[in-house]
Amino acid sequence: MAQYDVLIVGAGHGGAQAAVALRQNKFEGTIAIVGDEPELPYERPPLSKEYFSGEKSFDRILIRPAAFWAERQVDMLLGKRVESVDPAAHNVTLTDGSTIGYGKLIWATGGAPRRLTCSGHHLSGVHGVRTRADADRMLGEMDRTTNVVVIGGGYIGLEAAAVLSKAGKKVTVLEALDRVLARVAGEALSRFYEAEHRAHGVDVQLGAKVDCIVGDDQDRVTGVKMHDGTIIPADMVIVGIGIVPAVEPLIAAGAAGGNGVDVDEYCRTSLPDIYAIGDCAMHANPFADGARIRLESVQNANDQATTAAKHILGGTDAYHAVPWFWSNQYDLRLQTMGLSMGYDETIVRGDPANRSFSVVYLKNGRVLALDCVNAVKDYVQGKALVTGGVSPDKASLADPEIPLKSLLPA
Ligand SMILES: Cc1cc2nc3c(=O)[nH]c(=O)nc-3n(C[C@H](O)[C@H](O)[C@H](O)COP(=O)(O)OP(=O)(O)OC[C@H]3O[C@@H](n4cnc5c(N)ncnc54)[C@H](O)[C@@H]3O)c2cc1C
Repeated sequence: MAQYDVLIVGAGHGGAQAAVALRQNKFEGTIAIVGDEPELPYERPPLSKEYFSGEKSFDRILIRPAAFWAERQVDMLLGKRVESVDPAAHNVTLTDGSTIGYGKLIWATGGAPRRLTCSGHHLSGVHGVRTRADADRMLGEMDRTTNVVVIGGGYIGLEAAAVLSKAGKKVTVLEALDRVLARVAGEALSRFYEAEHRAHGVDVQLGAKVDCIVGDDQDRVTGVKMHDGTIIPADMVIVGIGIVPAVEPLIAAGAAGGNGVDVDEYCRTSLPDIYAIGDCAMHANPFADGARIRLESVQNANDQATTAAKHILGGTDAYHAVPWFWSNQYDLRLQTMGLSMGYDETIVRGDPANRSFSVVYLKNGRVLALDCVNAVKDYVQGKALVTGGVSPDKASLADPEIPLKSLLPA
């Protein structure tokens, strides 16, 4: 049986960074990463952005080149899936039946795209977007695609819609709620993005009720049927309705959790010597007033990876990283700082009509978060307002001529 001092499950953002952080912090033990995708760890965000649009090749989205992992003696066990965990014996079993022992286990498995439950969800031409294979499947169908329906008006769906409409496809976005980005942003940002997509020819339908996916006798998608009976023609359907965290083996092994696996401030699960990080880790986030959440972002995956790695090395720094995120759509770069959940007031800095503005989220007057559209200065300077929990004068906050850094207490 193979044996590693640290075994990392999941060769994505969190898994890769955990290995990097261990070596950077002088960990000299053996490390392996088991990943069920065939590729070396790569950046996932470009799958709905620069990789999908053809601006970046796959080589350019690798997190590190192959030589990096070899030089640092990180064994890459790729195309292999962990099926079960035995916390008492300190080993995992793979789907091929082999067993690997560990000293410490870092679970960094992200999640799988949530699937539709209606009939037709399995038809060919219906896609989730999580892996390179998903993006390649869509790219392979591009030539024969004229009409695309995107189900879900979240970041991934909207980014894909932007790439596809720029590529000349006729795109419809179906959002079940009454505005896009409703789960992550305030109304000002939602309305701005709806207008941008419409201006680019995307048919954005809100309060949309999908009945089922329809197909031909070859089991290939031909359209999306709505509750009122209308059928929207589609050669391709992209489903962007969130993820289901990939934690079954850990939960089956007795880890506390449900929607993800529960971790403490050092990313430790309830099982001995097992950490969990990234999209699958349910943690108390200081920037959400301590609420237990899962954060689906590169920032969270990387920073939790570093927290877990340092804890393995004997450190005692709790996870305390300000959340940030970005989204590219058309020529718009959105950058978010902090978490807006729980806000009771928003202030718009600048005029959205100029396509450069920020939305500031407040709670009891305190700055919780900022969404900055083509407004990199606000994004950079806003960080100190979020981390400091500052309560600036609101008129100054609303004035884009007044730099945010001047609103910090002396
Ligand atoms: C299309 C897209 C666009 C995005 N855009 C942004 C963005 O603009 N900004 C941003 O901050 N975030 C973005 N994200 C989110 C970001 O990519 C994730 O938050 C990040 O990848 C999480 O890292 P992770 O290590 O938790 O999971 P992942 O990177 O998903 O890695 C998990 C890996 O574990 C593998 N795995 C799962 N189960 C097993 C098992 N049992 N055995 C072995 N391997 C397993 C998975 O297949 C996967 O390879 C985007 C995500 C997607 C899909």
